Amino acid sequence: MYKAVIVGTGPAGLTAAIYLARANLNPLIIEGPEPGGQLTTTTEVENFPGFPDGIMGPELMDNMRKQAERFGAEFRSGWVSETDLSQRPFTLTVDGLGEIQTETLIVSTGASAKYLGIPGERENVGRGVSTCATCDGFFFRNKKIIVIGGGDSAMEEANFLTRFASEVVLVNRRNELRASKIMQDRARQNDKISWSLNRTPLEVIAGEHGVTGLKVMNNATGQEEIIETQGIFVAIGHTPNTKFLGGQLTTDEHGYLLVNPGTTATNVPGVFACGDVQDNRYRQAISAAGTGCMAALDCERFLESVHS
Ligand SMILES: Cc1cc2nc3c(=O)[nH]c(=O)nc-3n(C[C@H](O)[C@H](O)[C@H](O)COP(=O)(O)OP(=O)(O)OC[C@H]3O[C@@H](n4cnc5c(N)ncnc54)[C@H](O)[C@@H]3O)c2cc1C
Repeated sequence: MYKAVIVGTGPAGLTAAIYLARANLNPLIIEGPEPGGQLTTTTEVENFPGFPDGIMGPELMDNMRKQAERFGAEFRSGWVSETDLSQRPFTLTVDGLGEIQTETLIVSTGASAKYLGIPGERENVGRGVSTCATCDGFFFRNKKIIVIGGGDSAMEEANFLTRFASEVVLVNRRNELRASKIMQDRARQNDKISWSLNRTPLEVIAGEHGVTGLKVMNNATGQEEIIETQGIFVAIGHTPNTKFLGGQLTTDEHGYLLVNPGTTATNVPGVFACGDVQDNRYRQAISAAGTGCMAALDCERFLESVHS
């Protein structure tokens, strides 16, 4: 039986691991399907403090893992498929490891960006296709960029990207946008944004040096068109990775875990959530790491309170 189990090894989980290991709580960290988390799928990270020349995503995550291991954190490969949080100790069912019992649980399983599932899309992530304007916008200075989506986050990403891009083309399958009026108005008032509505994205076109265009179908005419671009931002939402929790933790309407404001405590005492799985707003490595630290400290205090 463990005092603390952390599920997920992105910046949130690994930061929590460093803190709990240094507090002598010997945490077990379950890595899941993507050891190191989302940053292992990118190249250069330029906005994580402490690296004036930037650092490659996989290297940053490897460093965090080594830092946790140095203080005695135990890592295991496995996928948590089920949890029983109805009583403490909690029980986790981990594919490949069986059942694990723990006094406390830190959930840091992230949120996966939704993709369109069109040819050329996934293979060009990091070569012109992105799901994060805050992370990658800077790489597209003075270039023409496409943003795909019709919700608030697509409007926000499009507006943000006009800081760098020479032009932003907003592509949406329908003529109407799902975004709130205020977000639409803001985007419509932006001279750098042009609109390619009622277009269904069909294929990302790329050459040796990355993305060169997006093939779309004009739904009004049935004609295929190619919009030339070097950057495509897919902004159609994220799915928080919470299936294994079986609805035992309270979420918002988008499926993000809810925590008591200013803490990482969920509705189940002893279960804490950090990183993108509880963050529909910032979704950055540094904010994930920050809440990972908070989760570890909340967890330590919880253990102290139940054992004193
Ligand atoms: C291509 C790309 C580039 C990015 N670039 C930047 C950048 O430059 N700067 C920046 O600040 N942010 C960037 N981000 C965002 C940043 O990566 C995320 O905000 C951050 O990784 C979130 O950390 P996290 O710890 O919450 O979760 P994640 O990094 O998503 O990690 C989730 C972890 O949970 C595990 N997991 C999930 N489900 C289960 C399960 N059922 N059982 C066990 N384990 C499970 C996964 O294996 C993984 O280890 C980028 C994201 C992407 C996709």
